[in-house]
Amino acid sequence: MGDIIQLLPDHVANQIAAGEVVQRPASVVKELLENAIDAKANTIKLIVKDGGKALIQIVDDGTGMTATDARLSFERHATSKIRKAEDLFDLDTKGFRGEALASIAAIAHVDMQTKPAETELGTHLKIEGSKVTSQEVAAVPKGTSIAVKNLFFNIPARRNFLKSNQVELRHITDEFHRVALAHPSIAFHFYNNGSELFNLPKANYRQRIVHIFGAKTNQKLVPVSEDTQVVKVSGFINKPEFSKKSRGEQFFFVNNRFIKSPYLHHAVVAAFEGLIRPDTYPGYFLYLEVDPGSIDINIHPTKTEVKFDDEHTLYAILRSTIKHGLGQFNVIPALDFEQDRNLDTPYAYKDKAASLPGVTVDAGFNPFQEVAQGKGTSTSNRYKSSFGSQSTSKSWDSLYVGLESDLESNEGFSSMKFESDLGTGSIFDGKHEAEESHATTFQLKRKYIVTTIKSGMVVIDQSRAHQRVLYEKFLKNITIKEAVSQQLLFPLVLPFSKSDMRMLKDIKDSLATTGFVFGKLEEEQIEITGVPLLVAESEVGMVLDQLISDCQMEVSADSFSQTDLLAKTLAKTLSVKTGEALDASSQLALVNDLFACKETQVSPFNKPVYITITENDIDKRFI
Ligand code: ADP
Ligand code: MG
Repeated sequence: MGDIIQLLPDHVANQIAAGEVVQRPASVVKELLENAIDAKANTIKLIVKDGGKALIQIVDDGTGMTATDARLSFERHATSKIRKAEDLFDLDTKGFRGEALASIAAIAHVDMQTKPAETELGTHLKIEGSKVTSQEVAAVPKGTSIAVKNLFFNIPARRNFLKSNQVELRHITDEFHRVALAHPSIAFHFYNNGSELFNLPKANYRQRIVHIFGAKTNQKLVPVSEDTQVVKVSGFINKPEFSKKSRGEQFFFVNNRFIKSPYLHHAVVAAFEGLIRPDTYPGYFLYLEVDPGSIDINIHPTKTEVKFDDEHTLYAILRSTIKHGLGQFNVIPALDFEQDRNLDTPYAYKDKAASLPGVTVDAGFNPFQEVAQGKGTSTSNRYKSSFGSQSTSKSWDSLYVGLESDLESNEGFSSMKFESDLGTGSIFDGKHEAEESHATTFQLKRKYIVTTIKSGMVVIDQSRAHQRVLYEKFLKNITIKEAVSQQLLFPLVLPFSKSDMRMLKDIKDSLATTGFVFGKLEEEQIEITGVPLLVAESEVGMVLDQLISDCQMEVSADSFSQTDLLAKTLAKTLSVKTGEALDASSQLALVNDLFACKETQVSPFNKPVYITITENDIDKRFI
């Protein structure tokens, strides 16, 4: 057998290697933005068309390149940033591999114009699939402009793999945010399909955050800072009450490079422990400066991961820095999210004389005695029947066929209070008539509602059950366009960033069908004059935030899936959560509503809602 191994031609090798560096348009944006920063640009312009599939162009006013360098820059492993291996440990540039331009040129049409300050004329270079198709001397401004067109034109499989323009734009925007947040001293402009998305003037870190995320961000930020021998920490954390249900505004920068670090994220979350609800995430913008020799940014080709020499120390420092920040700005005492802190201590109290605290005992108190609803129980009536009327309350009785005889013996249960005794205080007034029903329920671990059926028992996941109920309710309202809304006494004006506002405008009509009534829509704020019956005024901001972030992640063009997404998001956001105590009437109402649903088995997110345990199952365990 003869020799069969051959070296791959350059353009094939380049195409294969390109896959490592360029996964999607956003990867190109990141590499080109970083090159512009390495070239010491003062102003950088990013222009995108069709989610970057048609065009990504970056224009900078940096150092520019000579004709020779321009040509060389597209060769693999051609870089001006390191010369020897040791340079890797003292890196002050973003790039160092010399791979980006070669990779991009292998899979797109590239048009580059560049000129250093010193020369009169510059270079205009065109490359298609690694081949130079033209090179001319040209009169161009100082700096570099690179236009990347028809990405993946020669790898159709890759091109087909790309998501919708909106999703790709979202990824590009994420990369843009990361780079812009790390470099507030550089001005950025970002255009998409001819309209300006961001215009970020040169600023400080705080201003940059506010310019990107909107004016409402300013009041959320608490500065943190710490200077130790190992690390210098600076930046901002969001006040705990602004923690969000979705991940999003969480940024670590190490030596001005955006990184992901689950370990350091954990340190931040640990500092917030007890201050935020368990299902929410704190927002943060944290800038760490460490000795470049103490980190290795080489472990991942897209370079968002780093390895630190001394992670444990970093963890401890970060956690205490944040705790300190939270304490210093008096954020910690504001534990009650809804309450206005000014109301805590009535002013007149300062004139009151001190009196000895005493203990009073209710001698007649019997913990096993059933207390009349609404008179003294501390349990919460959190669950509002989402179907309003009781017309449905008996509809799950089919599950109960033949149960009547069991009820007498079960009655003892209802007079005992289970988990719900640890109630969270009444959030909603008005009791539910369902309590007159004979069915008995109790709450287990503030998580499950347990009830009996003819064949045994049902264990219902309270949160999923409520999601199902709300989901069907909203879906129905939206489809038949018959939502009931409550007029607000004073219109609510909520600030949003420009890009959030664009999203809101897109989904505004669908939202209106759920019961939202909108007043004026301005560039950075929205006026709301009515909200759906099921949404409390204080929940509106949270609901809209969640909607925006869900829509951004999962934009789909057809109206059916938009309706579905809307109903899902509302259901997810507004549902009773695991950990919430429900009183007896709320438990029962929830069970009733669930079994009145069209689909009862799975939540809107396709998770099982309840399990049944038959008498048989139980018998077997007693053998
Ligand atoms: P790296 O950034 O890892 O060095 P690239 O392939 O991204 O590799 O770029 C190759 C070289 O081209 C860089 O080292 C730099 O010298 C030059 N270069 C790229 N983009 C620019 C730019 N916008 N301005 C000036 N020089 C640039
Ligand atoms: Mg580079």
